[in-house]
Amino acid sequence: MEIAAYRVVLIHYTLKDEGGAVLDSSAGGEPLAYIQGHGNLVPGLEKALEGKQGGHTLAVTVAPADGYGTRDESLMQRVPKRALQGSGEIRKGMQFQARTEAGMRLFTVTGIAGDMVSLDGNHPLADQTLYFDIEVVSVREATTEELEHGHVHGVGGHHH
Ligand code: ZN
Repeated sequence: MEIAAYRVVLIHYTLKDEGGAVLDSSAGGEPLAYIQGHGNLVPGLEKALEGKQGGHTLAVTVAPADGYGTRDESLMQRVPKRALQGSGEIRKGMQFQARTEAGMRLFTVTGIAGDMVSLDGNHPLADQTLYFDIEVVSVREATTEELEHGHVHGVGGHHH
């Protein structure tokens, strides 16, 4: 069975950056389970996997525009500490959900100077070309329940 919309796909993946450093990998653990066509993967990877079958291995290069996007300087913001009240002590690297014109976004604290906090709403992998090594483990039809929930049940997915 080939990968097509609304099918459950199990993959093993290794994600590397331009320099070949491993950023993320499923090796040694459960494969990643996702529903094709649900936007669970970055668009460039989902597109490359369309039509592939179980047992297939492939290397996929994903440009930033089809990956985690390009950096948007307007998402670099400075806000007073009091705007983040209720979050306890603010430290570099902490993350906050905030509403923007483009919907909810995750902001990371990149610096603290006096009463001002610098926040970056860009994805940490924005502007980066992504290098994936993929092994398609299996492909099957999604159950009605999985499509209703929007996620996979069983191996690599939710257990409930
Ligand atoms: Zn569920």
